[in-house]
Amino acid sequence: MQEFDVIVIGGGPAGYVAAIRSAQLGMKTAIVDEYIGKDNQPALGGTCLNAGCIPSKALLDSSEHYDRVLHKFAGHGIRAKEVDLDVPAMISRKDKIVSTLTRGVAGLMKKNKVTWLQGHGRLELGMKVAVKPHKGKAEVYQAKHIILATGSTPRMLPNIQVDQERIVDSTGALEFQEVPKKLGVIGAGVIGLELGSVWSRLGAEVIVLEAMDDFLAMTDSQIAKEALKEFKRQGLDIHLGTRVKHAEATKEGVALEYEDGEGSHKLTVDKLIVAVGRKPHTEGLNATEIDLLIDESGYIHVDEFCATNIPGIYAIGDVVRGPMLAHKGSEEGVMVAERIAGMKSRVNHDTIPWVIYTWPEIAWVGQTEDSVRQAGRECKSGTFPMRACGRALAMDETTGMVKVIADAHTDEILGVHIFGAAASELIAETVVAMEYQASSEDLACIVHAHPTMSEAVHEAALGVHGRSLHI
Ligand code: FAD
Ligand code: NAD
Repeated sequence: MQEFDVIVIGGGPAGYVAAIRSAQLGMKTAIVDEYIGKDNQPALGGTCLNAGCIPSKALLDSSEHYDRVLHKFAGHGIRAKEVDLDVPAMISRKDKIVSTLTRGVAGLMKKNKVTWLQGHGRLELGMKVAVKPHKGKAEVYQAKHIILATGSTPRMLPNIQVDQERIVDSTGALEFQEVPKKLGVIGAGVIGLELGSVWSRLGAEVIVLEAMDDFLAMTDSQIAKEALKEFKRQGLDIHLGTRVKHAEATKEGVALEYEDGEGSHKLTVDKLIVAVGRKPHTEGLNATEIDLLIDESGYIHVDEFCATNIPGIYAIGDVVRGPMLAHKGSEEGVMVAERIAGMKSRVNHDTIPWVIYTWPEIAWVGQTEDSVRQAGRECKSGTFPMRACGRALAMDETTGMVKVIADAHTDEILGVHIFGAAASELIAETVVAMEYQASSEDLACIVHAHPTMSEAVHEAALGVHGRSLHI
């Protein structure tokens, strides 16, 4: 029986990064993954590269270009006379990016001498992993350490059947070959807003049905309020506090029935995206049979260092508690590999940045003003609107704001929230600040280049003590 120091099950951003780091630290490493790509070939990269972060951002970028040609260029004095949309070309560009990156990950495995075992991994007693290839018999491998990184899958609604034709999940929503005339989206969360935006910009009439009364409850309420107003202005028809009772694919489209405060409504759409969250994936892992502890929500139970209840077995990424984000999983992968190698690594879960890639983008790190106050802590905040930022004006990107929240007594930054162009990049500076427990004064003392969007972050930090210069 072949033996490895580390066997990683799952080749997404959590698993493949854990494998690379394990190999870098001199451990004999294997990675097990069962994913089959669109070209019918095994592909590493997991949800993130194959059907998540990367393909969605490719389509978001393409659709932003299209939207700019139609709605923004004229303001710059550029008139485009005939603008054609080629959706299959857009989709195939996205597919090429995916295959470039997944081949890249396979290359990284080779470079780092990580053995890629293609097929389904199943835990067996005695630190063994059985790998069943897509064709042929299962083989069993011995491991000194096992890292579980089996990811997540879309959550389904009991009364709605996803057929990936008319009723799709996020994977199907990345594959439309033409723009649906009328598109329904269940769930105004991250996926609903990102993919709803893609198809709305390309010309679909998009209706979003959200169960909660609050919009983007996990974001700062001031930012959420401004974002909701902007997304509605862009044409997303967002309905909060709704309950979808029934949805059924028909020959013509999808027949929907939903309820809200005003009563019951019927609706027909051409396509329907179900985006109501994701659930941890442990199916077929044989977890309970080997007494691996799974919590009541289906996550593999781990401690702060991602150790499970079984010595030598770790779990990272979407399959464990915390936000389902690629970079969170990757950092847990690095930490676990390093701890196996005897290092004292950790992940600071309090400074994991979030980004929603709508346009403008929403990015944040740390706590919201409401959560700080609910915890009984006094805070001060500074805000700065993008419309007062010279660079934002030059770019014609004046929507949004930056908000910095700091402890009222110590001035330590507790959270930063950005709604605006390039928010995904601007947030990085504030993550560094929070990681070093900087005060808003520290951020305000740093020289920011002019003219840049980052000046809005600077001004919001100054604003915590009423010292903003340009508002
Ligand atoms: P996954 O990426 O899900 O990978 C798990 C892998 O394990 C898969 O390849 C699976 O086939 C394999 N596997 C599972 N069980 C077994 C088994 N028993 N044997 C063998 N193989 C197995 N996150 C961001 O940070 N930024 C974004 O912009 C972003 N955009 C997203 C957009 C969409 C549409 C979606 C759906 C998700 C997005 N996410 C984003 C979330 C991100 O994709 C996940 O957080 C991330 O992929 C989780 O990584 P992971 O390695 O834990 O699991
Ligand atoms: P989500 O949790 O962000 O949003 C789901 C939404 O659906 C919520 O607002 C929820 O209230 C709503 N909902 C739940 N049940 C409903 C019902 N029956 N009817 C109507 N609405 C309902 O989940 P998601 O958008 O599916 O994305 C899953 C996860 O994937 C995200 O939480 C995130 O961790 C990850 N992701 C991240 C990014 C990013 O980082 N930019 C992008 C996409 C996905």
